[in-house]
Amino acid sequence: MSTDNHKKNARERRFATKLIHFGAEIDEQTGASSVPIFQASTFHHHDIFNPPQYDYSRSGNPTRQALEDYIALLEGGARGFAFASGMAAISTTFLLLSAGEHVIVTEDVYGGTYRLLTSILDRLGIESTFVDMTDFEAVKAALKSNTKAVFMETPSNPTLKITNIAQTTAWAKEHGLLTMLDNTFMTPYHQRPIELGVDIVLHSATKFLGGHSDVLAGLAVTADEALGKRLKQLQNGMGTVLSAQESWLLMRGMKTLQMRMESSERSARRLAEWLSEHSEVTAVYYPGLPNHPGREIHEKQSLGYGAVVSFDVGSGERAKALLSKVQIPLVAVSLGAVESILSYPAMMSHAAMPKEVRHARGITDGLVRYSVGLEDIEDLIEDLDNALRP
Ligand SMILES: *Cc1c(COP(=O)(O)O)cnc(C)c1O
Repeated sequence: MSTDNHKKNARERRFATKLIHFGAEIDEQTGASSVPIFQASTFHHHDIFNPPQYDYSRSGNPTRQALEDYIALLEGGARGFAFASGMAAISTTFLLLSAGEHVIVTEDVYGGTYRLLTSILDRLGIESTFVDMTDFEAVKAALKSNTKAVFMETPSNPTLKITNIAQTTAWAKEHGLLTMLDNTFMTPYHQRPIELGVDIVLHSATKFLGGHSDVLAGLAVTADEALGKRLKQLQNGMGTVLSAQESWLLMRGMKTLQMRMESSERSARRLAEWLSEHSEVTAVYYPGLPNHPGREIHEKQSLGYGAVVSFDVGSGERAKALLSKVQIPLVAVSLGAVESILSYPAMMSHAAMPKEVRHARGITDGLVRYSVGLEDIEDLIEDLDNALRP
């Protein structure tokens, strides 16, 4: 079977099969069962009049290319790009905008994206407005004459608010706006934004895609070839690329994405239900709970609820007591790994946000975020139950 046929067929298969048979799973030259790590910065020109396909690893590396084709296949897009981190992917993509242009952004966007927009891109003349995207009227009201793009993150972090993706992209298209979406929490297993009209999907692959808390990486996928060309120029021009070693490690992790997501999500659903009944817990945020305000929209645009559950224990003292008493999860920044990770937004991811703004967004001093790993859920619950005891 020729490679072209092989790739075409891969696009028609189901997700779990795509994860394993993504086109580069067998090395064409040797038959090796994994993509070789091309640990080379440059490539010999055998024929000076006929430049090789790869000539310098910033511009292109076969190992990185395999990863880039892999994520494009999973997201159903035209071209994929791999970056040194999630923020490298997001910052490079924002440079599609120019000075004097304006972008509408999800209010409770990832802290690093907020910092990029409010302390770096603003200096370069790229303006942003943050809106509560659960309110479509607020999104529309943020449109200005110089608006060029909309940046979504859904579910958002840490209170898991839901943006209606198809409604937003349809409106954005009417106004000629570029749409970008940070799909880190859902991954292409649960949510494929390009199918809902998004132009560029972004990932911190450091989280669920890598899945093992051992690789820092970012990915982007463009819906079409023309945008892909523009992003390629930026990736090469900015030099924000992922190394061959890290590309290989990331692909290794991605192969088990579906199995990991299924298991972690099953546990997260059970954990969210258990927390909802707990007398020491004042609020639980999880899109799979019947009382979650965005549940209906989320179910229309996603195939699952994910593995992140946030909950409020009522006060900063109680949150700190919980964090010091839990035995199983890693108490850390980050999420989406084989091990459970418990974070404390008020002192970690959202520490830089003014207290009033933080509280207004539901990020109280009692709020903690639980990213459910692959441990036995009964052990996780017993551990939390002990740690929650007054
Ligand atoms: C972690 C994260 C990022 C940033 O990714 P890095 O790999 O840490 O640079 C961006 N968006 C979301 C939603 C994240 O969780």
